[in-house]
Amino acid sequence: MIEISTINEFISRNEIQVMDRSSFEGHEKILFCKDPKTNLKAIIAVHNTKLGPGLGGCRMWNYKNEKEALTDVLRLSRGMTYKASITGLNLGGGKAVIIGDSKTEKTKQMMESFGEFVETLSGKYITAEDVGMSPDDMKIISNKTTHVVGTPKEMGGSGDPSVVTAYGVYMGIKGAAKYRWGSDKLENKRVFVQGVGKVGGYLIEYLKKDGCDIIIHDIDQKKMFDVAKKFDTKITNENEMFKQQIDIYSPCALGATLNDKNISELSCEIIAGAANNQLEKEGIHDIALKKKNILYAPDFLINAGGLINVYSELKNWKQEKALKKTENIYDTTISILIRSEKDGTSTHNAALSIAQERLDKN
Ligand code: NAD
Repeated sequence: MIEISTINEFISRNEIQVMDRSSFEGHEKILFCKDPKTNLKAIIAVHNTKLGPGLGGCRMWNYKNEKEALTDVLRLSRGMTYKASITGLNLGGGKAVIIGDSKTEKTKQMMESFGEFVETLSGKYITAEDVGMSPDDMKIISNKTTHVVGTPKEMGGSGDPSVVTAYGVYMGIKGAAKYRWGSDKLENKRVFVQGVGKVGGYLIEYLKKDGCDIIIHDIDQKKMFDVAKKFDTKITNENEMFKQQIDIYSPCALGATLNDKNISELSCEIIAGAANNQLEKEGIHDIALKKKNILYAPDFLINAGGLINVYSELKNWKQEKALKKTENIYDTTISILIRSEKDGTSTHNAALSIAQERLDKN
């Protein structure tokens, strides 16, 4: 039997250290779920449903504690609201996290229990995959809820969204290159890809074909060496990775890598990657990048390909239509960069303003 609590109940039971209320008061719904029978510990956060149901992937990660998981799901669900808005999709922002190691703790029963949890929101939140989850997990979740997308193609779903996410990130990189260098040709550009999982892996394929000089790093050593061998890339270590001479940094692991320490070391001209919430502190680290004359392509804009792909499942679009819409990320990136320069604001702020304008009109 799953036990569901609101954030206020959760705090009043002292199950989580009291947080700054402003960090979650902008959200429409935050629910905690525990199922002792399946060991499920999950949180669903719905940020804003003005444009449609909150759609966003479920991340399974070995968080240190519930506060860390809550912080992540709040930041991620808010990002989804702006991602859907700027991409012109009729979707709201929502996200889920499961606390645990996806490699050793995930079970079929746990996935079904999570499906029951999703079902209790009656479609206000639609789940999909994120870090630590796969289309096969979505298939199991669909045993218990219809509010799930990104199921395998054999089941009529849109499959793994990472392929399309990578294509969108590639479009974002090319758009930023065109704006910065007057050409979107990436030949001989040195690109550091941090995180060579699903999206990072597909992105490297595009960059390799364009003749980029690629350097990679991943905390999963085996994955890192396998990818380096497959694509003939260089590798770097944790201490050196931000100190290298590169043209483009592409964060494709987890968030908050754009922080005081890393920004002080970075010497690239463009940052464009798939990771959600790359800026550790909005309003601080985006400005720090602007001061260093580093062009930052906002994450929630250029990593929207996967969201477009799962949206196509809801709308019964053909994959070509999803790819065509993902291609628009190239032009939108350029228009955001132009607006940022015109308004004298950070690129992140320019993107947020455009997303907020659409939300305000609805
Ligand atoms: P993934 O789990 O397949 O890959 C992530 C990789 O990052 C893993 O190989 C992991 O070992 C590595 N990693 C984690 N922490 C690291 C660190 N500190 N340094 C180096 N490597 C590290 O996930 P993915 O689906 O490829 O997603 C990558 C990022 O893109 C995530 O932030 C995700 O939220 C975001 N994103 C993914 C999609 C999608 O369609 N999959 C869509 C939008 C955004």
